[in-house]
Amino acid sequence: MALAFRVICPYCSEPTRASAEAFFRWWPDEEELEKNPLADPVATAAVASYCPECEGLLSLVVQGKDSILRPIMAEDVPSSEWGHYQADIKLVEQHPGTPTVSFSRAVPEEIRQAMPDLLEDVARRRNAAGNLAICGSILEVALRHIEGAASQNPEVTPPE
Ligand SMILES: [Zn+2]
Repeated sequence: MALAFRVICPYCSEPTRASAEAFFRWWPDEEELEKNPLADPVATAAVASYCPECEGLLSLVVQGKDSILRPIMAEDVPSSEWGHYQADIKLVEQHPGTPTVSFSRAVPEEIRQAMPDLLEDVARRRNAAGNLAICGSILEVALRHIEGAASQNPEVTPPE
């Protein structure tokens, strides 16, 4: 069973599961362990991965208890058994990150606020009916702003 993490691929935008190919660096909490050798502090590790859809390379930053990551880093646990720790190892960062879209200030505030959630829902192929309703609202807001701009500037004609 492979150890894999849900990501939205930054290259192809597909929601997918990127598997852990190699743990290549880690940061145990030596300070905490020195204070209390019996403590099991959270450690951080970097994992090489790739998108199964487009094969784009990914670096994942994961966190788990020292007692779980230490044997993996010491190569005491074969990669075929990493999947047993799926519930104990959390994805905290992905590089490159999924691109965030930013909008010009000319785009109305209501639309700028609605877009990030809408884009994530669309990428994850969820909430289709809700997304359609949001798109309708966005169009209404855009039309209202265009009409407002047209009434202030007679050169601009609103669409019929
Ligand atoms: Zn991809």
